[in-house]
Amino acid sequence: MGRSRRPSRAVRALARPARRAVVGIPKSPGEIDAMAASGALLARVHEALTGEIRPGVTTLQLDGIAEQVIREGGGVPAFKGYRGFPGSICPSLNDEVVHAIPGDRALAEGDVLSLDCGVVLDGWVSDAARTHPVGEVGDDARRLIETTRVALERGIAAVRVGGHVGDVGHAVQTVVEAEGFAVVDSLVGHGVGRSMHEEPQVPNHGLPGTGPELVEGLVIAIEPMVNVGGPDVQLAADGWTVTTRDGSLSAHWEHTVAVTAAGPRILTAGGAG
Ligand code: MG
Ligand code: MG
Repeated sequence: MGRSRRPSRAVRALARPARRAVVGIPKSPGEIDAMAASGALLARVHEALTGEIRPGVTTLQLDGIAEQVIREGGGVPAFKGYRGFPGSICPSLNDEVVHAIPGDRALAEGDVLSLDCGVVLDGWVSDAARTHPVGEVGDDARRLIETTRVALERGIAAVRVGGHVGDVGHAVQTVVEAEGFAVVDSLVGHGVGRSMHEEPQVPNHGLPGTGPELVEGLVIAIEPMVNVGGPDVQLAADGWTVTTRDGSLSAHWEHTVAVTAAGPRILTAGGAG
């Protein structure tokens, strides 16, 4: 789940020179291992969901699968009950950017489906999203999904101890804009830990060397949200779903990543990650 931005503060954070005060809650190596266990369970959820994506499946069915895998793994769905959200996943389709509610809608051939999910295991939160084509999708959709995935990859690669949040945003933005797409700038990534949303905010745009410092032990959710058209979004009547203002397609990829001396450690990658 993404985070709504507090514009005035974020603008100030980007405008001021880097400073030494730590923004966020650094984790010990042991705590990062515990968060990796949460992330490994979340990766299993995403793998289970990936195998179920086909035309005709409803987003509520996917939600049920996610909750079952989470609970069988000893975890709790992080999204369920969060500010009253009813589901374990946010299944956002086509022009929906993030935070859609699971329901009776069935997937259709050609849809673009973003699946965001969060897990709490032993009190540690992990947060990750993937975007999938449903059957055969159009060229724009395919390019959008791949560009957003690569933007996440580059954003993660920009993570290093002593770097800055702006390094990540800049890497994401560069990939996205080279393809002629737009990053959603009113929603941001975030620190993760005992809470789903900690400091710092992690925008998907920025300037290298600006913003809060990436100190060792910080854990952040990097989550590019990318639109084929313009960057503007709006809130749907259900009070949750964020859609593109121009109706264009949107994609969302996210990993929970620890800042370590050995480089970025992706906690939600699954497998050897
Ligand atoms: Mg998320
Ligand atoms: Mg998130």
